[in-house]
Amino acid sequence: MDINVGDKLIMKKAHPCGSKTFYVLRTGMDLKIKCEGCGHEIMSPRLKIEKRIKQIINSEK
Ligand SMILES: [Zn+2]
Repeated sequence: MDINVGDKLIMKKAHPCGSKTFYVLRTGMDLKIKCEGCGHEIMSPRLKIEKRIKQIINSEK
């Protein structure tokens, strides 16, 4: 999966705040993402996050 800093991720399941959109802050073995709805930042292993992604919206395309 091609995930870059600045991309938007649409998740299959919504965050408790109701938002399904997250921004990518940092990539690598772990991804750091930020919820668009409440601003909560989550750091989690890349594979774990990839399983929950429904769609990636690339920032430059
Ligand atoms: Zn949230």
